[in-house]
Amino acid sequence: MLEELKNIPSKVNLEQFDTTVFSKEKIRELFRSGKVPTADAMVDEIILRAVKFGATDIHFEPRENDLQIRFGYEGVMKRLVTLPKEISDNLASVLKTKASMNAFEKKKPQEGRFSHTLGKHQFDMRINTVPILTGERVAIRVLQENTRVANLDELGFSKENLEKFKSLIRKPSGLFLVTGPSGSGKTTTIYAAVNDIQSPEKNIITVEDPVEYRLEFASQVTASGDKTLTFVDALRSILRQNPNVIMLGEIRDAETGIVAAEASLTGNLVLSTMLSRDAISTILRLLNLGIPPYWLASTLIGIIYQQLVRKICDSCKEQYHADGTQSTLLLSALSIQTTFYHGKGCEKCEGSGYLGRVAIHEILIIDDQMRDFIYQKAPLLKLKEAARAAGFENIFQDAAKKVAAGIITAEEFSRALG
Ligand SMILES: [Zn+2]
Repeated sequence: MLEELKNIPSKVNLEQFDTTVFSKEKIRELFRSGKVPTADAMVDEIILRAVKFGATDIHFEPRENDLQIRFGYEGVMKRLVTLPKEISDNLASVLKTKASMNAFEKKKPQEGRFSHTLGKHQFDMRINTVPILTGERVAIRVLQENTRVANLDELGFSKENLEKFKSLIRKPSGLFLVTGPSGSGKTTTIYAAVNDIQSPEKNIITVEDPVEYRLEFASQVTASGDKTLTFVDALRSILRQNPNVIMLGEIRDAETGIVAAEASLTGNLVLSTMLSRDAISTILRLLNLGIPPYWLASTLIGIIYQQLVRKICDSCKEQYHADGTQSTLLLSALSIQTTFYHGKGCEKCEGSGYLGRVAIHEILIIDDQMRDFIYQKAPLLKLKEAARAAGFENIFQDAAKKVAAGIITAEEFSRALG
């Protein structure tokens, strides 16, 4: 993704400390000789290598006898290096200090962030620590700053889904949710949505923690997890500023959920994201959060659920015939037997056959029948029936169409959807 970064040279030879290559004794000798880089330099090197590769997150995992360092790339974990356990604490404390966290606290989970510059690029690093049996596990989410907000039609929506999506966000008021597992591109989608409906006649206000993209046409409020300005306080004061569209970073608890419903009840279009495992069951999660059914029934207009999957590399894509190993789930989602596609591996995709990612979606539109069921707190089965009757297409169907169209492989379908 970032060609220019490839030219930044490595400064530290991490390989000489790799416990899967060299014996502990040999590495210990290196440390005794004193010719080792500082923990700071090692952390910088690890970040450089991971980001060069296009990592979305970096994980420092102390294990019984070593420290494994892996990074997430296109939804899969890759090993970067395995270091001696002894330096695990030092690396963790460098990261915690960078992120203004308490470096001495090792028994409690902590969160923090720091800005990291590589070449001309600025990255926002979100750190998260968790004490585990074998030490302190540190995860970093890597976000590039000042990236352009995507357009809706770049996000891989099918033609039908794009139409549904656009009609939902053009409603004058109501609550619209983008849901999915973590790292599924929810933020990208919601920003693209706000970008799509913005106009000089609209008053658009966002509340986020932290602000991920700068929007010229919106007023953006940073609400933080600590007590200085909570989501709820921010939202309540925004409502007095006559907004038309409110984008709320995430509904994470009863309080934010209730205020979001309240805001849409007073005639605003409220867009937000939420963790969930499918569109329909999100309704039950919202009810379980404690949002009163009559509020939800009268405000909810739609829910989209999405996942990110790896895309077939266009440069080495080829057709092949089904050999019977395709999952029955996939075959049942495809109405007609088709040929399949995969990448055979080339220089561009470094032999993997995959290049980039694409989202798969399901979009639930809340119609009168569904509204009625929400009001009655109907069970999941009823909600599913109503959705089906209204022409709801689930994520399997969308993904299967993308398999048939040669955008994703049958293997990726099974990996993502089971
Ligand atoms: Zn390729």
